[in-house]
Amino acid sequence: MSRQDPSIDALVDSLTLAEQVSLLAGTDFWHTAAIDRVGIPAMRVSDGPVGARGTLFSGGPVSIDVPCSTSLAASFDPSLVEEVGRLLGRETRAKGARVLLAPTVNLHRTPTGGRNFECMSEDPYLTAQTCVPYIRGLQSEGVASCIKHFVGNDTEFQRNSINSVIDERTMRELYLIPFEAAVRDGEVQAVMTAYNRINGPFAADAGSLIDGVLRQEWGFDGLVMSDWFGLHSTVEGVQAGLDLEMPGPTQHRGAKLIEAVESGQIDASIIRERAKTVLSFLRRVGAFDDGGPGDELASAGSAADRAVVRRAGSAGMVLLRNEDGALPLSLGELRRVAVIGPNAAIGGLMGGGSAGVTPTHVSHPLAAIEARLGEAGVEVTHATGCATFKRLPALDPAYCSPLQAEFFEDLNSVDRPDAEARKTTSLASSRVMWFTDPIDATRRPEFSVRLRSTITPPVSGTWSLSVTSVSNARLFVDGDLVIDNTGQPAGGSFFGMGKAEALATVELVAGRPAEIEVRLVRPMTQDSMTGLHVGAYPPVEGDPMAEAEAIAADADVTILVVGTNDDWESEGFDRDDMDLPVRQNELISRVAAVSPRTIVVVNAGSPVTMPWLDEVDAVLVTWFPGQEMGESLTDVLLGDVEPGGRLPVTFPRRLEDTPAFEHHPGRNGEAHYLERRLIGYRWYDAVGREPLFPFGFGLGYATIEITAATAVDAQTVQVELANTSDRDGAQVVQVYAHLIDRSGLAADEPVQRLVGAAKITVAAGSTATATIALDPDAYRTWNSLSSAWGRWTSAVELRIGTSSRALPFRVEVLP
Ligand code: BGC
Repeated sequence: MSRQDPSIDALVDSLTLAEQVSLLAGTDFWHTAAIDRVGIPAMRVSDGPVGARGTLFSGGPVSIDVPCSTSLAASFDPSLVEEVGRLLGRETRAKGARVLLAPTVNLHRTPTGGRNFECMSEDPYLTAQTCVPYIRGLQSEGVASCIKHFVGNDTEFQRNSINSVIDERTMRELYLIPFEAAVRDGEVQAVMTAYNRINGPFAADAGSLIDGVLRQEWGFDGLVMSDWFGLHSTVEGVQAGLDLEMPGPTQHRGAKLIEAVESGQIDASIIRERAKTVLSFLRRVGAFDDGGPGDELASAGSAADRAVVRRAGSAGMVLLRNEDGALPLSLGELRRVAVIGPNAAIGGLMGGGSAGVTPTHVSHPLAAIEARLGEAGVEVTHATGCATFKRLPALDPAYCSPLQAEFFEDLNSVDRPDAEARKTTSLASSRVMWFTDPIDATRRPEFSVRLRSTITPPVSGTWSLSVTSVSNARLFVDGDLVIDNTGQPAGGSFFGMGKAEALATVELVAGRPAEIEVRLVRPMTQDSMTGLHVGAYPPVEGDPMAEAEAIAADADVTILVVGTNDDWESEGFDRDDMDLPVRQNELISRVAAVSPRTIVVVNAGSPVTMPWLDEVDAVLVTWFPGQEMGESLTDVLLGDVEPGGRLPVTFPRRLEDTPAFEHHPGRNGEAHYLERRLIGYRWYDAVGREPLFPFGFGLGYATIEITAATAVDAQTVQVELANTSDRDGAQVVQVYAHLIDRSGLAADEPVQRLVGAAKITVAAGSTATATIALDPDAYRTWNSLSSAWGRWTSAVELRIGTSSRALPFRVEVLP
C-alpha cells in the first residue's frame, strides 16, 4: 500500500495531535498503540532472529529455533535461507505478531563481539546476500522484517552509549551495505536503529542517516523504530525520522512531545508525517485486517519445519580439518565411540540475550549420536571432561522443586513472614526476567518477591550456590543468610544491566531436603528490567578429565563436543578473549593424546583459538545450529549429508592478529574504527598475516575442484567443476575483485573483495558448468570528496576459487 494512500491521509487528519503522538510510541514491550475511536488496531512485534519468541522471555509458548545467523551465512545458500525466512514468517504469525525484529546485520568487526552469532559475517556482500533472502522469505508470509541495528552496533562494550566513530567511506563500503541491500533488493519494511551513538548523535537521533541516507537516498518508505530504550530525545529523534519509540509506555514522547509542538520546538506537520508512516505500515502489514494482535500460540513444530531446521543446521557446518578421511564415520568399522565434552549432553543451540526462544523440541549431540550409533550396534560412552558454565546452572528440576514466588507491593514485606502476598505463582525456571510490574503491568515497577524451592540433593558434599540479579537479592538456606549481593559490582548479566554473580558454598546431605529462599527487592528508582538467576552446582566427584581420558583411550573414535554457550556469547557483553572457555583446550589435548582418532566439534557462534589443531584428526564447526542440533550434527558425522558450510568469518590464529585489536573496545566512550575498510580477510590480505583458516574456507567429503574459469563479461563468470570422488557434493565458488592499478589508492583500499559466490552441486564422478552473476555494485567505490559513489574505471582482476586464500583462477575485466 503506497504512502500516498488517500484513506491514510484522511485517517491521520482525523486524529487529534495527542492521538497522532500516541501512535509514535509502544504501549508496552511488544505492542503499538490502538485508537479505538477510529478503528486503529494495536500491533504486536516479536524478537528474532532465530525464532519468533512472542511476548515472554521465558515460560511462554514454544517456538521453533532455527540456526543462528552466522550459520545461515556459512551455508552460502540463499534459497535455503529464504526457506528459513518463510518458516520464521509462519512462526511470527503464530505468535499473533506482524513484525519480526530481525535480521541482525551488523558486521563481525572483532571475533569477540558478543552478538556475532546473531549477525552474519565479516563481509558486507555475504551479509547482504544472506539477509535479502531471509527478508524475502519472512515478508512473503505477511510479516514485516525489522532489520537491525542501524548502524555501527558492532560491540556490546558500553553498548548504550558508545560512540562508533566511522569514516564516511568505511560506512558506505562496509557497514551500510547490508541495510542498503535490504531496502533496495529485499524491500524490507522496517528498520531498528542502534543503541550506540554514531559519529556523535545517538543512532535514534541521527537525521543524516535516517532521513538522509535511508529515506531520501535509498527511498525507504517503511517504519523506523528505536531499539529498546535506545531513544534518548523528545525532539531530535522525531526530527531525525524515527517513527516509533520502543518499548512503551513512552519515556520521551507522549505529553513531552505534545508540549514540544505547542511550544514551537517542532512542527506539527512532522508529527503528522511520522503518524502517517505508522498508519501506512499498519495497513501494509495487514494489522488493520487483524483488528488487533492475535492469540499467542505455541508453535506446532511440525515435522516439515523441523526437517528444514535440521537441514539448515548441517548446511551451515564447516569442516576445517579432516586428516586421512577421519570423517565421515564408517559405522561398520566401529566398535565403541566416546562422546566427550561440556557441549555433548547439552549442546549450545542458540546464543544468549533477546535472540533466545523456548524451542519446540531439543536434540542434543549425545542423545542423537547414541540413538543412531545404537541402532548400528556401536557402543557409545560419555564423559563431560570439564564444565563450561560461566554462571552456575539454574536449579535443576531433577532435584529442585519449582520455585514458588510470592510478590509484595512494597519493598519491606519480603522480610516479614506474616506479610500477605499480592500474587503467588510457580516458576518453570530459576532464571527469570520481568519487564513490567508482575503485580500490575500498567504501573511503574516497584515490588519485592520471595522465591522458595526445596532441594533434595542427589549427592552429599560441598554444593555451590549463586545469585545473579539486576536488583539486590539475598539467598537463604534453611533460614540462614548465605548470599547478599547488595554490594556486588556490575557484571554484564541481563543485557549488561545486572550484577556479577555472587557465590557461596554450603554442605548438603544426600536425600535430606533443604529450603532455598531468595528475597529480591526491586525499587522504582531502578531504571531497567528485573532479572534474577539462582544457580546451584553439585560437588564434583573424582577427576572428570581423567575419566574422559580413560573412555577415550578405550574407544575407536572420540567425538569431542566443545565450545561456548549462551552464557559466553550473548547480547550485553563481548567475550574477553577468543579462547575456548575454562579448561577445554587442556581437555582436547589430553584426550587427543590417548584417543586413536579425535574429532573435535566446535559449537560456538564465532571463532575460537585452536592450540591443539595439529593434535586432532578432524575439526567441524557447528556454530549454534538450532533446536535440531543433534540430528544435524549426526547427519554430517555419519556422512548422510555434506558439511555444507564455508567460513563467513576469518578464523585468526590469535586475537592480537585481528583487524580491530588495537582499537577495540574503545576509550573514553568512543570506538574509533581505525582499521577502516580492512575488516576481516581484507586485513589479513593487507598486512600479509596468515589466518588459521581463511574466510570462505571449508572442506567437503566429496572432492570437487574448479577446472576452468572465464569471464563472460565484467558481471558474469563461468566456471567448470569436476567431482573426482564417488560422493555427490557441492562446492562454494567465490569471486573476488582486485583493482590492478594500485597507484594513488588509499592505504585502506582492500587488496580484494568478495563480489560473487555460488554453491554448486556436482554429482559423483561428473562435471558441471556454472554461471555466476556478480554483485551489480562490484566495482562501486565511495568518493569521500564528492560524497558520492564512483566506479572503478581501470582493469580489474577477478580471482576465482574456493576461499579468500585459494584463488587459482585469475581473469582480467574492464568494469
Ligand atoms: C535488542 C534488540 C531487541 C530488543 C527487544 C534489545 O535489547 O538490542 O535486538 O530486538 O531488545 O528485545
